[in-house]
Amino acid sequence: MWKPSTGAAMLTLCPGILCSLNGIHVTSSSSGLRVRGRAHCHVASASVSTEIAKNSAGLRGRTIGCVRGWSSAGRSQSFSSATCFGAMKSRSGFTSSGNGVDIRWIKTNGDDTSNQTAGVVYPSKSCKSKSCKVAVIGAGAAGLVTARELLREGHDVIVFEQTKSVGGVWVYDPEIEGDDLLGLSQDRKRVHSSMYASLRTNLPREIMGYTDFPFLPRDGRDGRRFPGHAEVAAYLQDFAEFYHLLDCVQFSTSVDYVGSCKDQNKISWKVRTRRRHQTDDVKEEQFDAVVVCNGHYSQPKLAEFPGSSSWPGVQMHSHNYREPSSFTDQTVVVIGNAASGEDISREIADVAKEVHISGRTWSASVDFSEPIGQHGNIWRHSTIECACEDGTVLFAEGGCVSADIILHCTGYFYHYPFLDTKGEVAVDENCVGPLYEHVFPPSLAPSLSFVGLPWKVVPFQLCELQSRWIAMALSRKIDLPSTQEMMDSVESFYAELEASGKPKRLAHNMATTQYDYDNWLADQTGSAPVETWRIQIFEATSKNKRANPETYRDEWPDEELHQEAFARLEELDLSCRLTVECIQQAKL
Ligand code: FAD
Repeated sequence: MWKPSTGAAMLTLCPGILCSLNGIHVTSSSSGLRVRGRAHCHVASASVSTEIAKNSAGLRGRTIGCVRGWSSAGRSQSFSSATCFGAMKSRSGFTSSGNGVDIRWIKTNGDDTSNQTAGVVYPSKSCKSKSCKVAVIGAGAAGLVTARELLREGHDVIVFEQTKSVGGVWVYDPEIEGDDLLGLSQDRKRVHSSMYASLRTNLPREIMGYTDFPFLPRDGRDGRRFPGHAEVAAYLQDFAEFYHLLDCVQFSTSVDYVGSCKDQNKISWKVRTRRRHQTDDVKEEQFDAVVVCNGHYSQPKLAEFPGSSSWPGVQMHSHNYREPSSFTDQTVVVIGNAASGEDISREIADVAKEVHISGRTWSASVDFSEPIGQHGNIWRHSTIECACEDGTVLFAEGGCVSADIILHCTGYFYHYPFLDTKGEVAVDENCVGPLYEHVFPPSLAPSLSFVGLPWKVVPFQLCELQSRWIAMALSRKIDLPSTQEMMDSVESFYAELEASGKPKRLAHNMATTQYDYDNWLADQTGSAPVETWRIQIFEATSKNKRANPETYRDEWPDEELHQEAFARLEELDLSCRLTVECIQQAKL
């Protein structure tokens, strides 16, 4: 069994050195090292090859860690030599296609564990057809993978993050927004994360992670298939460390203003930032492009019903829900029967007297008169007809209850208080538009883009594909359609939405179309389509969740699929895990 030695060395390469691969993929397994595939690789720098040769002395034909490359099309390919580094060293005719190499770890097979390297090498800027200075707003799941894709394309990246850490909503914050439990005031104290203490993922980890950085259990951490929020936050931290993203994040720095400047047909962006808690530390910088990754689960959307403002009980939004103790012995009306509404209702029901869920999307078979839940104290209702001054809440189906608390689990608004596009992009009925394929405002593409807007999706993978598209559009490897063509596409999308009877607020809801969308993005960027097992697991989980909302996180019928996915990911994961250990060791 391989153990990292304390002498684990980072392979650090000077900026300007070009590591170029036409796609390689050397994998490891616990029994040894395998190099497979067909592409060959080039290392276009004497010093890099010397460095690698030095670090890999004695490796030839024996042991190689994991070396992943990505082609100019952004796709991982495989490498076909059992003598990887020999081949690397001896190959001539190096290219400078601007690809990157992600050297995860290298080790010898025998007792000598001194020859280890770990790290990621991004391509030098000089080899790019176009390198841009890009501001990324937010270091959550979307912002992190965007930074990685931009770096892979050779762009200059600064990520502005208003909090002190990466991870966005996954960084649990016990604080709530003061007394403004509904989030009504624009001047309220802001808390970004909407996580509650007990939250576990609603997707299994094997499909939740980024495609090339598996989200698998780690020793000493939460190893559940549907882990808690802290495990996701730790995974995102690992991702950021692994890809050296922390170096380009400016923490505690909020973006207050983003405005476009047009100069001779070239659009650039003025970005004003403020270091938090230091009101005088305001900075303004110019960027070629801005990618908005600020998340959309922080600005509460409330249910509207007659009598709401004069109802005497406590009203709050799930954004400010952390744990159930204040609901003890209370009669609670929960508005909303989507993921948060269902989960929080069940948690509250453990301590509350009664929980009444008011929803607008129940299946036709729901029996409003039959209580559900472990304690038999959860009732389902239609929408609220009105709330009365004596504390009674009346439901449209005819039921009523005298309640103490109304909890709005009614979702969030897209919110871009910093963005000044002079009317080119707006939020209308909670639809951000016009956006070509949910990413680019046609008149400002590709210099302004949004990542992670679609919902009812597997978000990490989707963000990975969207950001790859953006990175390649900025480097001009991909040509976007003309402004008019993009605008026409948006118009026809809106027309289809209307024709199908869907309100505009569902524009970014991708419940049934996400994989078509993902595959379209994959096609644009030359990436592999979504693997079938991912879709099968997503469908099996959705079905199990609908049938067994209380137990789906701990009992599942798709064990075979689950094991198959784990086996596939573990091979790739081994290299990631060892690299993280290597990096940690190197830091000690
Ligand atoms: P966020 O994670 O919100 O990150 C945005 C970042 O931008 C934050 O760090 C924020 O501080 C920063 N920011 C915002 N404004 C500014 C500014 N002006 N200046 C600087 N920085 C700024 N997804 C799943 O895959 N599985 C799940 O089980 C799941 N459960 C969820 C449960 C809840 C309660 C919620 C709210 C969401 C859940 N999600 C789940 C969806 C989740 O939001 C996505 O997985 C993903 O984390 C979104 O990442 P993001 O980067 O788009 O946004």
